[in-house]
Amino acid sequence: MTLLTGPFRPGGMALAATYILTAALPLLLAHGQSAAPMDRWEYAAAALGMIALWGMAVQFVTSGRFEALSGKLGIDKIMAFHKLAAIWLGLAVVLHPLVYILPTWLEDPELGWIRLRFYLTDPAYRSGVISLAALLVLIGTSLLLDRLPWPYEAWRGTHIVLGLVAVLAGLHHAVAVGRFGAEGPLAWFWTLVALAVLGVVAVLYGWRWWLLHRRPWRLESVTNRADRMWELDIQPAQGTPQMPYQAGQFVWMTEGARRFPLFDHPFSIADSPARDGLSLLIKEAGDFTSKIGTLPEGRAIGIDGPYGEFTLEAHPADAVLLIGGGVGIAPVLGILRDMVARGDKRPVRLAYAVGQPQNFACLDELRAATESLNLQLWLLSEEQADIPDLSQGRLTRDRLSDMLNGLTPDRTRAFICGPGPMVVAVSDTLLDIGMPMSNVIYERFDYSGNARSRLDRARTGRMLSIGAALLAIVTGFALSM
Ligand SMILES: Cc1cc2nc3c(=O)[nH]c(=O)nc-3n(C[C@H](O)[C@H](O)[C@H](O)COP(=O)(O)OP(=O)(O)OC[C@H]3O[C@@H](n4cnc5c(N)ncnc54)[C@H](O)[C@@H]3O)c2cc1C
Repeated sequence: MTLLTGPFRPGGMALAATYILTAALPLLLAHGQSAAPMDRWEYAAAALGMIALWGMAVQFVTSGRFEALSGKLGIDKIMAFHKLAAIWLGLAVVLHPLVYILPTWLEDPELGWIRLRFYLTDPAYRSGVISLAALLVLIGTSLLLDRLPWPYEAWRGTHIVLGLVAVLAGLHHAVAVGRFGAEGPLAWFWTLVALAVLGVVAVLYGWRWWLLHRRPWRLESVTNRADRMWELDIQPAQGTPQMPYQAGQFVWMTEGARRFPLFDHPFSIADSPARDGLSLLIKEAGDFTSKIGTLPEGRAIGIDGPYGEFTLEAHPADAVLLIGGGVGIAPVLGILRDMVARGDKRPVRLAYAVGQPQNFACLDELRAATESLNLQLWLLSEEQADIPDLSQGRLTRDRLSDMLNGLTPDRTRAFICGPGPMVVAVSDTLLDIGMPMSNVIYERFDYSGNARSRLDRARTGRMLSIGAALLAIVTGFALSM
């Protein structure tokens, strides 16, 4: 079996190239169009505005809700890109008016301020100012998400509305006062972009809402598996088809009358596709999850999925390390259950780490799996307990080396899921002890976490090179006009 050897997966490279090439499209269209002669800075300003506008529209697709993307790259990478791109788009939108007036500013600062005030207050430019303000509020509320006293759903609703306002007002600005966008092919291009954005929102919040109601699932049972952790058995209601998925993927779930995409939450499937229906393992963490244990049997459930690429199918390997921390055991359990169902013969090493022993779920099932699989099991708790095969402490370098003992690191894939700091520590240590970057796969349950692994930093470096390519395109445009 051949493993990919570098941190690049072809899907990621192809998508990055597509992103850069399509970003250049409005500038190519503008290139062929006549416009009043401008200073090079003004061309650069126009190019910044056009690229930022196009980038804002693409943010709707990189929101993590399109399996064509999250299934190729993984939700972690998509969300990392979405966040980073928002920062550089914000920067480009702020620079857009400033670069326009830069030559005036350099010659006569007072006149520069007058021009800037004009752009910010003249009614003709109002849609541009609205777009800029909406984008800045959107970025600010996202950076401060953890500190806002709002429910997560309120933030999500605001995020979508601000995103729509930013892009639609920006498109109006481009068509109304843009040097290139008022007529010709660019006017058509921006109209198509506006329709595409509205189409994406209609799919996300119209079509999917309809599907959640048209194809309901049914809660069969809720079982307590550990301290404030519940396993839900969910089956398709009559008329709803089974959902094909791969073990380790996740779904967006809602319940009862709130089956609307704005209210859904992501949960990994802790199950094998060999079994009908879905099992979710859910830890109480806030408003939605804290009532999971009290949901009545028969409750209508909305399932949107599957998503993600935390799967053996997406990352073939000769041997597998499965590492789950806390409720991060959910997708790991799904993969393990599937390996049992398929009678997989590959060596599997599984480490399950929790803070307190009462957080362990499904231990008997994990132990039983050692009988049917080529499986070795490590159970770790930070607190000691009277559990026979339990070790006290964390997943240290020695323990991870122990897990890899006898396996060839570049033919082994490690799947890690758990709290951000644990994922970072384990991933970095695995790289230190010789696992290639491309063989370490992880999924975090929290998009807002700030802990960054070496893998994250390498990814950020590659994503920054996309930003650099866009800057080169802006510069090339300004110089070639
Ligand atoms: C890919 C993925 C798979 C996950 N799988 C599981 C799982 O198998 N089992 C499990 O117990 N938990 C899982 N989670 C975490 C779970 O989604 C959150 O704990 C849950 O949404 C919290 O909602 P709440 O209203 O109870 O808590 P809140 O107090 O509203 O939220 C707590 C935190 O959870 C995150 N969160 C809340 N709502 C959402 C949302 N709609 N979308 C994304 N993040 C949100 C935010 O970071 C928030 O700060 C997963 C998360 C992700 C991203």
